[in-house]
Amino acid sequence: MSDTAHILKKHHLRQTNCRQQMIAHFSAHSYALAHSELEQALSEFDRVTIYRTLYTFLEKGIVHKVLDDAGATRYALCAHCTEHQHHDEHVHFKCMQCQTVQCIDTISIPNIQLPQGYSYIDSNFLVRGVCRQCNQL
Ligand SMILES: [Zn+2]
Ligand SMILES: [Zn+2]
Ligand SMILES: [Zn+2]
Repeated sequence: MSDTAHILKKHHLRQTNCRQQMIAHFSAHSYALAHSELEQALSEFDRVTIYRTLYTFLEKGIVHKVLDDAGATRYALCAHCTEHQHHDEHVHFKCMQCQTVQCIDTISIPNIQLPQGYSYIDSNFLVRGVCRQCNQL
């Protein structure tokens, strides 16, 4: 079984062409992908199918949202999330040269203690700089 098929099986999802291709596309990139990039890469599918697939992946814990400093939303594969239980408290890194945003799984965000009366939903920790690839050019 391919990695792609394995991810779908682990999350109890049917193997559809669009789902398989979307996961393969995420796996092939080390950085987070915008909705428009997915639409371009999966142009054989209509927009609604792509939107639904992405939404299912968010729900099931296969991908998580990555926000950048411009407020744009991108998506990246989760490492070990399950349905309704995302654990993506890691740092995101935005390269100011190639403009990509990557997950840095090795740095986790500490538990955030909010003042009384505030409730927590999620957090977004973005580090900006120059990525390894751009530094080597
Ligand atoms: Zn997740
Ligand atoms: Zn870069
Ligand atoms: Zn991430």
